[in-house]
Amino acid sequence: MSVRVRMAPSPTGLLHIGGVHTFLFNWLFARGKGGECLLRIENTDTSREVEEATEQIQRSLTWLGIDWDGAITFQLDAMDRCRELSARLVADGAAYEDEGAIRFRMPDEGVTGWDDAVRGRIEFPNEQLEDVVIVRSDGRPTYNFASPVEDMDDAITHVIRGDDHISNTPKQLQILRALGHEPPVYAHIANILGTDGKKLSKRHGAVSVEEFRTAGYLPEALVNFLALIGWAPDGETTILSRDEIVERFTLEAVSASPGTFDYAKLDWMNGVYLRALPTGEYAERLVEFVHECGTDWPDDGIRAAAPLVQEKIGRLGEFPDLARFLFEDVAPPADDLDPRILRAADDALVATEPWTAAAIETTLRELCDELGEKPRTVYAPIRVAITGSRVSPGLYESLELLGRDTSLARLRRGAEVAA
Ligand code: GLU
Repeated sequence: MSVRVRMAPSPTGLLHIGGVHTFLFNWLFARGKGGECLLRIENTDTSREVEEATEQIQRSLTWLGIDWDGAITFQLDAMDRCRELSARLVADGAAYEDEGAIRFRMPDEGVTGWDDAVRGRIEFPNEQLEDVVIVRSDGRPTYNFASPVEDMDDAITHVIRGDDHISNTPKQLQILRALGHEPPVYAHIANILGTDGKKLSKRHGAVSVEEFRTAGYLPEALVNFLALIGWAPDGETTILSRDEIVERFTLEAVSASPGTFDYAKLDWMNGVYLRALPTGEYAERLVEFVHECGTDWPDDGIRAAAPLVQEKIGRLGEFPDLARFLFEDVAPPADDLDPRILRAADDALVATEPWTAAAIETTLRELCDELGEKPRTVYAPIRVAITGSRVSPGLYESLELLGRDTSLARLRRGAEVAA
């Protein structure tokens, strides 16, 4: 039997990275088994406009490369079906009316349990389970009814979801049994915590997929990183391609204890992915990223700047500040400029031929000897005059790319500002 799972986001705002972690595990499981992964928008509990949230969800998943099979479904579309089934349950005596709402009758004795694919056996004493509302007095089904009904109708084989839903599972199991349906396998994935052991929230850093995207993380790095929260193929492997993860992922290897979202590890991993990109592809990613930021620097200029930063940055989001001097004028702080050195650099570079990083390097090294100064003393004011900052890509390459005219003009202006 082929497996079929569903990703079931509630359409409330931007997609949270914790939710995506759960969806990723659904997706990995389905793809690894050649099964299907559906996308269901769970809008029973929200009367809010869902269109925008639904678009965001699709956009975020698509960016991550997490795809789904068939058309997206909306839980509220199952409303009529749920009412019909609730009437059947009432007729069978498994449910009853209560002040206009319909409640499902839970057994009073015994236990409701299941073999969780991640956490092992879980049981709830039935006396602890309240009769759950399945249809509200306004006629809308509740999540606890619509969700198992859809799982049944969609022939879902495995429900892989966050462990905050564990307390819902006995209710959904009882409902499915009353409907005469053999329940799916349940797998409850532990929540993700920050390194301080607290629930992952804004205080820790980015939490929505959108935020990670605009900060310049690569989707493949984020997927690799997320896959390793609560799952590991072995004790040591960290960098894994998407295909390798799909191939090696199993629910049995998913840990029942909460995983930690380590931002420093993600930064490291993203840097590894960025540096490993072929130069041409790296340049194209930068072009796309800069445009997404709404910056209209010319594509060729961005491509030319790419090799200068590839070894330097761990997130594409660091590029605009580091490379701005190549596209826009600079306003160097006067305190960091030294007119004597800037004038000498201007005099020396005016004659450099050809205008290449190698020739520029030779000129500047000779200049250090002539001035009897250490490279650090000579390069610092030049760097500030040229780039407007003490931190920049390689100085020789930056000068080459900026061109002789602009470079010399900035050295002269720097000398004037400082004088
Ligand atoms: N909509 C629920 C959530 O966002 C998922 C519930 C389920 O998977 O059954 O957590």
